[in-house]
Amino acid sequence: MDFRFTPAQDAFRAEVRDFLSTLPPTRSAEEEQYLGAHDKDFSKRVAERGWIGQAWPREFGGQEMGFIERAIYTEEMITACAPVSYHFISERQMGPTLMRHGTDEQKQLIRKIASADMAICIGMSEPEAGSDLANVATRAVIDGDDYILNGQKIWTSHAQHSDMIMVVCRTNPDVPKHKGISLLLVDLKSPGISIRPLINMIGVHGFNEIFFDDVRVPRKNLLGRENEGWYILAENLDFERGGIERLVTTAKLHQELIEFMKTAPELPGGRKDALRHEIAEREIEFQVGWLLSYRVAWQFAQGLVPNYEASMSKVYGTEWTQRLARTGMHVVGAYGLMATPEQRELRRKIEDAYVNTLSHTLAGGTSEVQRNIISTRGLGLPR
Ligand SMILES: Cc1cc2nc3c(=O)[nH]c(=O)nc-3n(C[C@H](O)[C@H](O)[C@H](O)COP(=O)(O)OP(=O)(O)OC[C@H]3O[C@@H](n4cnc5c(N)ncnc54)[C@H](O)[C@@H]3O)c2cc1C
Repeated sequence: MDFRFTPAQDAFRAEVRDFLSTLPPTRSAEEEQYLGAHDKDFSKRVAERGWIGQAWPREFGGQEMGFIERAIYTEEMITACAPVSYHFISERQMGPTLMRHGTDEQKQLIRKIASADMAICIGMSEPEAGSDLANVATRAVIDGDDYILNGQKIWTSHAQHSDMIMVVCRTNPDVPKHKGISLLLVDLKSPGISIRPLINMIGVHGFNEIFFDDVRVPRKNLLGRENEGWYILAENLDFERGGIERLVTTAKLHQELIEFMKTAPELPGGRKDALRHEIAEREIEFQVGWLLSYRVAWQFAQGLVPNYEASMSKVYGTEWTQRLARTGMHVVGAYGLMATPEQRELRRKIEDAYVNTLSHTLAGGTSEVQRNIISTRGLGLPR
């Protein structure tokens, strides 16, 4: 197997880096969190380059570029902590899902995603439906040409900046749980919707609670067939889990730690060497995670939808970000007097990452759930 990128792919990476070179250094936990800050103007600039939905067919506003290029673009954007949160989830999950299952009218939304004029957030989780997603209780009942939607979603990322939400809801309560689920595309400005912020442990408003109170949703907004939403959802999650973005969220911090250690003073008892070895371990692991991510990109390039492979990449990448943050804390512990402004800024980043990376192994399905997928679908073990 040839692991090298083509010259055109290298040139594309250089182009993305050049585009990102004007970004100011990050100064806040919000900018450094997974998917960065919200900046619609930045998303517009990315769209003007044709990079949102770059792998999509031209009829949907794409550039028909390859999936390896998409992984390169993602790696560079997220490593640079670029503010991609307005468009990222829509591009990653909703574009491909609409392309495969949307009606002709729903497919019109894909072009809007590509031009950064439309963001669709994902309303799956509820207070009693997380890992056991089939337990959703949000109810949609037909009334004339509409569904009437009632219920609650929780942990909905970036809903406060989104235009629509894909709601996972129950349309038939009288069949086994996963057979009565449908997906509705809902305009977030519809009467009866209220969005409440949830502030995470580092003080960032990344996700929300959403309440639906007799919300009327046109029946034409049903995505896929009624009561068959579960199967579309499983695929949507594979799109979510397959990317390189989770692994590289803390890649920049990793590099900054390496730089710090190059000039850091020696410590008694060979402690600096122990830390250097620990950071070297993280580097080796990072390379493994990087290959797992590009394996998934390669599968997308072959027209496959990775399944347990996406889970492998997700669980490995997110657990790596936590290990990296722990290693950072060991550095902070050893060099408690990080006294210069640059060192204090590094310490802030490490401390924020230590807290923030905890959520990485929950979002998109917990590590336990990923391991269940790997063991049953990957290794063929019994349920
Ligand atoms: C940063 C972040 C962003 C998120 N964004 C969104 C979003 O945009 N949209 C959305 O819908 N949701 C979102 N979520 C919610 C996320 O999908 C859920 O938190 C996740 O699926 C876990 O569900 P839960 O929190 O209800 O935990 P639970 O399902 O209650 O799990 C609790 C614990 O039990 C374990 N567990 C549960 N079932 C099993 C099992 N069968 N085998 C082994 N262990 C098990 C879990 O691994 C976990 O450790 C987000 C979460 C986070 C942290």
